[in-house]
Amino acid sequence: MPRMVTVDEAKKIKQQPDKLTSVDEQVISVTLSSSGKHGYPETLRLRPLKVKDVKALVEDPINEEIPYVRRLVEVVQGTVLDEGVEVREMTMPDFRKVLLAHRVNSIGKMIELSFRCSCKNELQVVPFDLMNLDEKMIDDEYKEPVDVGGVQVRFPRVWGYLPEGKKSFDEVNDYDVLASVVIGKDVDDLLLSEAKGALEFIKRWEMSYGVQTDIEVPCKHCGKKVKIGVPFFLFLSLW
Ligand SMILES: [Zn+2]
Repeated sequence: MPRMVTVDEAKKIKQQPDKLTSVDEQVISVTLSSSGKHGYPETLRLRPLKVKDVKALVEDPINEEIPYVRRLVEVVQGTVLDEGVEVREMTMPDFRKVLLAHRVNSIGKMIELSFRCSCKNELQVVPFDLMNLDEKMIDDEYKEPVDVGGVQVRFPRVWGYLPEGKKSFDEVNDYDVLASVVIGKDVDDLLLSEAKGALEFIKRWEMSYGVQTDIEVPCKHCGKKVKIGVPFFLFLSLW
């Protein structure tokens, strides 16, 4: 005979609807290149993207980079199944890896990249397989926070690259990024010597791990290899 559920159990059942309800619901598991060294897990679980998620990206034109990437962060946040993981608090390399995982799982691994070579003013389009991107894991030795001349620092976070009131990445300066790096101190109050040490820390580590961000493609006219940036931020809107 079925037993009545207790009030506590009933409450728990009510709290479940947003969680996974069936075993066949697809979960995307992403292993982050930072190996859990930044205070969030090494493996992130995501639900697949739905049309309602990417609408906000496609309908709104990308005329302002930073507001667009902020929306992108929110879209990705809406797919994170692990509690307490904030996408804006992740590092850029990890954010790029998550975008790659979504792209490959929801849209596909092929992307069309366009570029111009200096030899001819013509737009060339080449298909590229995103599975061919290299990935470097974080240095085993890395451990944060790091003490730099008495200032505690950590790897820059996504929000540091998206300062309020700025529209394009060209406007973002070192001090904006530094705000997400320095722990327990206002960047404005740092001595210049301390800021210098913290900036050197960023330069040393910023690109030290993660998925490859540039690729080289041969020009079909002169054969010269042209460097193209992988458009991570357009992965969910560029089909
Ligand atoms: Zn060329």
